[in-house]
Amino acid sequence: MLDYERFISDRVRGIDASGIRRVFDLAAKLERPINLSIGQPDFDVPGPVKDAACVAIQQGVNRYTQTQGMAELREKITQGLAGEFPQTLGRGDAGLLVTSGVSGGLMLALLTCVQQGDEVLIPDPYFVMYRHLVTLAGATPVFVDTYADFELTAERIEPHITQRTKLLLFNSPSNPTGVVASEVACREIAALAAKHNVLILSDEIYDEFWYPAPATPATPAMTSAPTSEIRNPKSEIPPRLPSPAAYSADVLLLRGFSKTYGMTGWRLGYAAGPAAIVEQMTKLQQYSFVCAPSMAQVAGSVALDVDMSEHVAAYRRKRDRVVERLSAHYELAVPGGAFYAFVKVPQRLGLTATQFVERAVERGLLIIPGSVFSERDTHFRLSYACDDAMLEEGLGMLVELARG
Ligand code: PMP
Repeated sequence: MLDYERFISDRVRGIDASGIRRVFDLAAKLERPINLSIGQPDFDVPGPVKDAACVAIQQGVNRYTQTQGMAELREKITQGLAGEFPQTLGRGDAGLLVTSGVSGGLMLALLTCVQQGDEVLIPDPYFVMYRHLVTLAGATPVFVDTYADFELTAERIEPHITQRTKLLLFNSPSNPTGVVASEVACREIAALAAKHNVLILSDEIYDEFWYPAPATPATPAMTSAPTSEIRNPKSEIPPRLPSPAAYSADVLLLRGFSKTYGMTGWRLGYAAGPAAIVEQMTKLQQYSFVCAPSMAQVAGSVALDVDMSEHVAAYRRKRDRVVERLSAHYELAVPGGAFYAFVKVPQRLGLTATQFVERAVERGLLIIPGSVFSERDTHFRLSYACDDAMLEEGLGMLVELARG
């Protein structure tokens, strides 16, 4: 037998997935968990999108596609970007690469842009993958604390910029906090990055999921939904999601199909940004992922024409319900998007978030401790991507847990 330990690289040893695995291991033991830990939509892929993938397979669209992605899908994405970012990404000189999910785009972007000695700014709390992909690429993560309102601002970022800073990982709406960056924050952060020669990687995988502030903001909660940006709060159609890509062409935009269309297993996303960088990412994709799945690319073109607003409205109502039920008992920054809330464990309970989550799990409620997403262990992430009955049950249990 070989000495298997010899084959495990330091690069991989450096990755610690124990926090989240513990929750999933506990979950596996529960008979009927109240699961508020899920990081994907609870709705299925729309019918026309499924049909398009099936037809594509039947018709033989089963071979490698061009590395950069199929022409029809690229064309549709380009049109969308031209409408949304006419001054920057939509000008016609940006690069575009269809990727295997946003994860694929993140991996390629980091391997392309950073190496040993480089620093990458990561707002804390952060999406779990960020810190590990940064270290995998050999660079050093530098955390920008955004507690307690989870707003990322130029002011909070600037003190962390050094000669070595290359990238800022920007994520709005955010996983795990659900906080949406304001138009002002996006503009100022874009200007700051330009001043210091820093590239912004804008992970906008939740771009369709963002909502105006709840009708009745609950009192103890801090409002972080971008209320000042809402031109017509009554309108069901929100204005454009604030993005640093609206203010600078030096932004690498990463978007995906996983969340918007419930296509998490289909592995489809795209990266758009400075052509010189996207070209290098394309070269790397050619020798790694090769291409995004062919049938998913065909179906992705169809998906871009599907109206998902009912699902978005349903998540908005669930968000309102979370705020309504929890804000009298917990401190929480009102989430403006995605399908998460990042809730503070009441101090008077004297528990770390991990201990609090263990108590919740003992009662059959699954949530994720903040330590998985943060250097702190004071909050937990709740996902409301579940049916209303389960959400109500979970919220009821959280109210009980807050009482101690
Ligand atoms: N970024 C964020 C912030 C996410 O939450 C996720 C999925 N959990 C991803 C990227 C990866 O998504 P994909 O399925 O497109 O790889």
